[in-house]
Amino acid sequence: MAKKSSSLKGLGSRYGIKLRKQYSQTYRLLKLRRRCPECNSIKFKREAIGIWSCSKCKFKIAGYAYDIKI
Ligand SMILES: [Zn+2]
Repeated sequence: MAKKSSSLKGLGSRYGIKLRKQYSQTYRLLKLRRRCPECNSIKFKREAIGIWSCSKCKFKIAGYAYDIKI
């Protein structure tokens, strides 16, 4: 008879791989250099989840968690 704990362990690692792959993809997207649509500077970064702002002209935009709409 197989132990229940071993099957659970296998399931956990499979879930971990999927999550790690997803994370690296979103992280790369997050670290991409973006240009501010207002002043065209590269100081345009994500301020919080869903909020993107430019530190140069204080332009703020609502977007997705890891990407902007435009
Ligand atoms: Zn700007």
